[in-house]
Amino acid sequence: MAEHEHQWKGRLFADGCHHFSNTSECECGALMNVTGERIFWLRGKMQPGIYMALEGCERCHALEMGARRKPTRVSIREPGGPWQRVLRDGRVVEP
Ligand SMILES: [Zn+2]
Ligand SMILES: [Zn+2]
Repeated sequence: MAEHEHQWKGRLFADGCHHFSNTSECECGALMNVTGERIFWLRGKMQPGIYMALEGCERCHALEMGARRKPTRVSIREPGGPWQRVLRDGRVVEP
């Protein structure tokens, strides 16, 4: 396939209590999935909209208490290909 720069368009956003998953699609059919933990604190302030800290969710509680977020993961799937992970430096690896 010729050089092509994916243009990601929002497609599906799924929120967990302390976790999010955002899948976007390019018109060529490629998919990108971004998943990670939500930001509870920013510059020392509890983020507005973080209302959950759901009863009984230990991870919510830990994040509320200032635990470090797990790194956000980015995965891309080229049309017809397998899901591959994209590292921070842009390298692509098998999941
Ligand atoms: Zn594309
Ligand atoms: Zn939670």
